[in-house]
Amino acid sequence: MQALTNRAKSVDRRPMSMWERMYLPSIVKGMGITFSHMFTKNPTIHYPEQTRSFSQVFRGLHVLNRDEEGRERCTACGLCAVACPAEAITMEGAERQEGEEHLYREEKYAAKYEINMLRCIFCGLCEEACPKDAIYLSETFAPAHYDRKGFVYGKDNLLIPNPLTDKEGYDKAAGGRVRVAEKV
Ligand code: SF4
Ligand code: SF4
Repeated sequence: MQALTNRAKSVDRRPMSMWERMYLPSIVKGMGITFSHMFTKNPTIHYPEQTRSFSQVFRGLHVLNRDEEGRERCTACGLCAVACPAEAITMEGAERQEGEEHLYREEKYAAKYEINMLRCIFCGLCEEACPKDAIYLSETFAPAHYDRKGFVYGKDNLLIPNPLTDKEGYDKAAGGRVRVAEKV
């Protein structure tokens, strides 16, 4: 029969020799492997005191972005929800009222924006789909919760702090990924 890959190994079905039936070589070999690991660097990381460094392309928790004037960028167009293969995003749009120009960048904004982190596969397609640079996946990963509701993140969890009133919180939430520079 033709093999699909070249990874198949033929099984040695010859009867074991006397030496092999004593299992001593195998035990010595196994102990050798065990002892060799005693002198290698311990890969365990003592989280949360220690954190590992992630790859540049690591995709963690979502952040709803603001512009440099602290206004919410999201215009509730729904493209991120349409692009999401896990149907993890729900939102409700609202019209910006007079006097709210300092809160919302566009005439329409997301009054409610939720991501179910239990459904999310952190693919980043919502970030790719967004025409307003309003959502991106940060370097932070989702903390643990005791119930399922805790994994449904609303605007209170997702919205980045206002850079005008909380620069430190904004920089911390933004990490190295935030893209404040205008592209729209
Ligand atoms: S990262 Fe992927 S799965 Fe998660 S909300 Fe965005 S599009 Fe959906
Ligand atoms: S995050 Fe972006 S794609 Fe999603 S609704 Fe807001 S503006 Fe549209």
